[in-house]
Amino acid sequence: MNPTITSIGILTSGGDAPGMNAAIRAIVRTAIYFDIKVFGIKHGYHGLIHNQIERMRSHDVAAIIQRGGTILKTARSKEFMTDEGMQIAYNNIKNQGIDALVVIGGDGSFRGATEFAKKFGIHIVGLPGTIDNDIYGTDVTIGYDTALNTIIDAVDKIRDTASSHDRMFFIEVMGRDAGFLTLRAGIACGAEAILIPEVDSDINKFIEFLENGFRRKKSSNIILVAEGEKAGGAFEVVKKLQPYLTGYDVRVSILGHIQRGGSPTAYDRYIATKMGTEAVKALLQGNTGIMIGIQNDKTIYVPLEKAIKIHKTIDTSELEIINIMNV
Ligand code: ATP
Repeated sequence: MNPTITSIGILTSGGDAPGMNAAIRAIVRTAIYFDIKVFGIKHGYHGLIHNQIERMRSHDVAAIIQRGGTILKTARSKEFMTDEGMQIAYNNIKNQGIDALVVIGGDGSFRGATEFAKKFGIHIVGLPGTIDNDIYGTDVTIGYDTALNTIIDAVDKIRDTASSHDRMFFIEVMGRDAGFLTLRAGIACGAEAILIPEVDSDINKFIEFLENGFRRKKSSNIILVAEGEKAGGAFEVVKKLQPYLTGYDVRVSILGHIQRGGSPTAYDRYIATKMGTEAVKALLQGNTGIMIGIQNDKTIYVPLEKAIKIHKTIDTSELEIINIMNV
């Protein structure tokens, strides 16, 4: 036990992700279990600067494990990227007697946390919370599994209408500049093809397929397009492919923000609870500047510097599975 940690603050930052509430609950209850005071900071770093800090008790996190979004709210804060903003944030947490922070968010939030820790020596642990799964050092991020299930549910429904009308659907999937959601959802919903930013030649290969009469006789074709696809989103891709799409009845669907919401899956609740508990234990053992990751179902400690700097690569060999499934 590190006797210097007597009080922990929690914040969620960047995009919200299902399972963040399960993580908040786990952190609050683990802190209480170890007799540590715990504070919730509303609206991420914005709330740190504007003193939106409140003590949390066990009942404050009752019945939230199943709720999407984040009860602490989230925000992006330009002010926190300035020396003045950070100084105010530090003064606020010192006034509350908070000596450590658990930051749940993406790589941007971790960059902010690392700067803050360097400047003021505050202890920090990060939890990867993003549907995009684009954080190095962890097999999965909180929210990814729920978003995948939401995508599959939506695509299955689109498949029903696509096959009734013999249509080809280009469906845009979230993920920012990464294709994790698109690749895995593509395999799980039986997509005929996917386009992801990690593979440059994707669109050219797809043009070749179209020129060769790509599954013209199939009753439906589902093409998943990652929002970060280099050719642009689904509408841009269809525009570029227009000359090759004659003879296909084409529709575009943007899945949008439904991918961010909803009740977290069992798996997201499980990893969020496991990571949240580990975050508090890690702080109490004197750790700082780390992210809690999951590898092979075990929690691991990843230096935040690595989680920020190293690019998480996608297993492009899995693309072959999609081709094989479409013989
Ligand atoms: P998502 O993956 O969902 O977009 P994220 O955590 O990457 O989540 P960002 O918008 O990149 O989201 O970052 C969240 C916040 O972290 C920013 O609004 C800003 O307040 C803070 N932040 C990011 N980079 C820095 C930095 N270099 N210094 C200080 N603060 C930063």
